[in-house]
Amino acid sequence: MCTTAERFGSLVFGDAVMKERLPRETYRAMQDAVATGRRLDLSVANVVANAMKDWAIEKGATHFTHWFQPMTGITAEKHDSFISPTPDGRIIMEFSGRELVRGEPDASSFPSGGLRATFEARGYTAWDPTSYAFIKGRTLCIPTAFCSYGGEALDEKTPLLRSMEAISRQALRVLKLFGNAEVTSVKTTVGPEQEYFLVDRALYDRRKDLIYTGRTLFGAKSPKGQELDDHYFGSIKPRVAAFMEELNDELWKLGVPAKTEHNEVAPAQHELAPIFTTTNIAADHNQLTMEIMQKVAKRHDLVCLLHEKPFAGVNGSGKHNNWSISTNTGVNLLEPGETPHQNARFLLFLCAVIQAVDDYQDLLRISVASAGNDHRLGANEAPPAVVSIFLGDELSDILSSIEADTAYDAKEKVQLKVGVHVIPRFPKDTTDRNRTSPFAFTGNKFEFRMLGSSASISSVNIVLNTAVAESLRQYADALEAASDFQSALHDLIRQTIRQHRRIIFNGNGYDGVWLEEAERRGLLNLRTTPDCLPRMLDGKNVALFSSHRVLSETELRARYEVMTENYAKVLNIEALTMLDMVKRDILPAVCAYQKELAETAAAKKAFAPGASCACEQTLLTRMAELTAALYARTETLEEALLNAGNICDSAALARYYREYVLSAMTELRACADELETMTASKYWPMPTYGELLFGVR
Ligand code: ADP
Ligand code: MG
Repeated sequence: MCTTAERFGSLVFGDAVMKERLPRETYRAMQDAVATGRRLDLSVANVVANAMKDWAIEKGATHFTHWFQPMTGITAEKHDSFISPTPDGRIIMEFSGRELVRGEPDASSFPSGGLRATFEARGYTAWDPTSYAFIKGRTLCIPTAFCSYGGEALDEKTPLLRSMEAISRQALRVLKLFGNAEVTSVKTTVGPEQEYFLVDRALYDRRKDLIYTGRTLFGAKSPKGQELDDHYFGSIKPRVAAFMEELNDELWKLGVPAKTEHNEVAPAQHELAPIFTTTNIAADHNQLTMEIMQKVAKRHDLVCLLHEKPFAGVNGSGKHNNWSISTNTGVNLLEPGETPHQNARFLLFLCAVIQAVDDYQDLLRISVASAGNDHRLGANEAPPAVVSIFLGDELSDILSSIEADTAYDAKEKVQLKVGVHVIPRFPKDTTDRNRTSPFAFTGNKFEFRMLGSSASISSVNIVLNTAVAESLRQYADALEAASDFQSALHDLIRQTIRQHRRIIFNGNGYDGVWLEEAERRGLLNLRTTPDCLPRMLDGKNVALFSSHRVLSETELRARYEVMTENYAKVLNIEALTMLDMVKRDILPAVCAYQKELAETAAAKKAFAPGASCACEQTLLTRMAELTAALYARTETLEEALLNAGNICDSAALARYYREYVLSAMTELRACADELETMTASKYWPMPTYGELLFGVR
């Protein structure tokens, strides 16, 4: 039996294994590739591939796969075995450098947003040496980027890696001006907190809506929800604890540093947070985490729901994206420093983030847009769709005094001069009070809280990295041209605060008053996915991504198409599922119960003529009304779906689905939910909210 420390990373072809198994020269070349992402020569790749294969076979692997992340939000893999025939009819196990560095899967069945029409159907996968290979089941998984034959990104990883290069490029220019010549690369780091629900598998299997759409499309509120706040951080039930234990073990073996676990606000809701790491690896790890959560849950006769809003009336699930920037020398650039020099650098990087979030509010909103997340944002459980930054009072005061050139400390009358004075220390815990802000500074990192639970974290980090790269580019341009660095820096910081202070908001983000205030400040409030997506193609956004070589206009357009189409498709599946459930399950059930009521009343009349039938009559009358309305609303929804068939433009279609289909769905649900409250349990055709939310003991 190995210890946890020994098991950690035991299924990863990581640094220690490489050091042990690779010739010294090859190991050095590999280390270089890990640090820089540069591709290896084929001869070196051959040596690495062979060592990887031997190691994987010892661990029981028979296959390898290029593991990639197409624009479906999840991962894809196609397994090939290591076997290779020999002339004498036997087999040997082989894995070449060529197979390691490049694969050529058929790209034609992955979303391409039109890139497929213009380019060849074939795509290729390219090894990402910065993310270690690992073993899942009997397969050696090689993290790869996925591109069209023409080199266009068809995945999440390619633009993420490009955005990391972009921010590193610009940050290095700025750091050089601060005299930090020893820094050779800058990386962003992320710790994503993952929320999820666990429901009993037998109950799940009886809910078509959960099976087809991941969320409940019907369900009357259960008598108890989250109002007693008794689930958050509550003691973990044995079945859930057993699940968490196995999940941790599986994740640790894969080198995922799962750290924190607790019950969340809603009943049946939980959270897992890993220790932060380089963004690209954090993104891969988060994909693995979501996959392993679902697998392990099944082994415990549970189902893990990653949907943003599985249940109406209780909190949905998000994914907090804790983000910072670090140098390869181990300095966190968002950590306030001890010296005037460190402080000035901190303030400039802080300004870069503030400016980026203000200039690209729309892109940040877009990066979390999905049909599922629309149910969450602004619903008093997650931040509103308005993007703003929480800095806390102390830091905000410091920025205000710099902006106005006034004394920061009223008593001492100290006038803060950037680069000359140390900014006053502010207690760390005061930076993390406000949980309602979409984007909060939490001491030495920012926590972006709008991301949905099922989404890849790449989308938001592509935007954050690129937008901050753009602020830094502007600062480097200005400062490189300045004759007096110190005063240029001071002016730059003042000017940035002045221009972008509207994005800073320290109050309650859930308050309706904030939405009015935000409007006065000119901040965007893009409430739904169809509202925000078209802005992706605004000139400034196209310019941002193309100038930093993160996404060309063609690639951006493709992403826009994929997201827009996805919205309509998701709603279409939900609507069809509702129709199926009403017509084949709910209507028959409520009719059967009404028949029983009618028969009871008739029997009373026949056998106990004086007895009251008021109960049966009242119930029957109301149920008959509701049943008629339910049926009429299925017709309305069907008609809405039929009309959707006439709309060709994808943006118009998305708007149509939100406008007409979603509202017809809401109306239909209202009828069914009321019927549920009056139908005898034994007739109701599916598990209730109460059973689902409190069914795991
Ligand atoms: P809370 O629930 O209070 O927001 P947690 O401790 O659960 O906080 O999560 C904080 C997350 O932030 C963890 O994943 C942690 O590793 C991550 N984190 C800490 N420092 C950094 C950093 N410099 N860069 C990115 N993420 C960080
Ligand atoms: Mg958090």
